[in-house]
Amino acid sequence: MEQRAFNFSAGPAGLPLPVLEKIQRDLLVYPGAGASVMEISHRSKTFAAIHEQAKSNIKQLLNLPDNYHVLFAQGGATMQFTMIGMNFLQGKSADYIDCGAWAKKAIEEAKKFGTARVCWTGKAENYKRMPKTPDLDLDANAAFVHMTSNETIQGIEFFDEPETGSVPLIADASSDFLSRPIDISKYALLYAGAQKNVGPSGVAVAIIRDDMLERVPAGLPSLLDYRLLQENDSLYNTPPCFAIYVVALTTQWLLDEMGGLAGIEAHNRKKAAILYDAIDQSGGFYVGHAERDSRSLMNVTFVLANKDLEGEFIAQAKAAGLDELKGHRSVGGCRASIYNAMPLAGCEALAQFMRDFQQKHG
Ligand SMILES: *Cc1c(COP(=O)(O)O)cnc(C)c1O
Repeated sequence: MEQRAFNFSAGPAGLPLPVLEKIQRDLLVYPGAGASVMEISHRSKTFAAIHEQAKSNIKQLLNLPDNYHVLFAQGGATMQFTMIGMNFLQGKSADYIDCGAWAKKAIEEAKKFGTARVCWTGKAENYKRMPKTPDLDLDANAAFVHMTSNETIQGIEFFDEPETGSVPLIADASSDFLSRPIDISKYALLYAGAQKNVGPSGVAVAIIRDDMLERVPAGLPSLLDYRLLQENDSLYNTPPCFAIYVVALTTQWLLDEMGGLAGIEAHNRKKAAILYDAIDQSGGFYVGHAERDSRSLMNVTFVLANKDLEGEFIAQAKAAGLDELKGHRSVGGCRASIYNAMPLAGCEALAQFMRDFQQKHG
């Protein structure tokens, strides 16, 4: 078999090797089912158990209070932008924190359903940091406040939730979901496309508090109605069964092998420190994008001071088995995405490569 590269893809991103091996083992026959997970009814006992496992693992990892529901929806995080507008804006005004590329997309979608009021923007600073609560111009009557907990493209992350008082806080956590412990009780709704940290694309996880479901207006398109989704336990129609199965395996791996969210946070901090140290100790050869206290633990963004070397850096890294280091097409530069599944050895190999490359070209 061909060698697996260290895959720094921003998404869909690498999955834990033990999870892939388990999928491979069970691919033709899932134990007891006589068929693969792709080939059985979503109403079968086998799938019900898989679905239950995915939900209960997420509950356990987040220490989820009983007034929250774990839902699986289709359409990725982008469809959540739409659902939030349809379900909770309804012509009203909500506060959006404009902290980067994904926030902007969420805002553009929300405008179709009401007023998406920008309560802070990092645009003038080229999205180098997350705001603190006092930076925000919050409207006490807003329908909700929307934040992006990790801006995947800019590589900046929130480490303190904004204090929004009685206004519900909604978070797009697509690229840092289940990467460290959070106080979930601060959120009314937290959602994530699975393909960065917890599974393949095709499913989004939405964790929603009871009182939000009461706000959902009648008559929404069925698949875009959070209340209907909850009332049907995410099975109003055929869900993305295989993707949910992988979420069950990935969350089980977090619990059994990585020490839950506290364990994975320690692991993720160590990994990120290796790369940020390599940047900081390069004497300006590599330049990080984010301000220090907003540096993402998931997406490490940087440029080479000598832009002419960037193409060579990315190409040589690829040849050395360090793949997908090109920054997003909208911002350029380099980006190492180091989600939960990236092993420590991948970050060590990249840091060593960075030092070697600098020695040759510095
Ligand atoms: C990847 C990403 C999205 C878009 O996810 P899709 O599942 O492709 O819709 C949205 N928000 C953030 C923060 C992301 O990282």
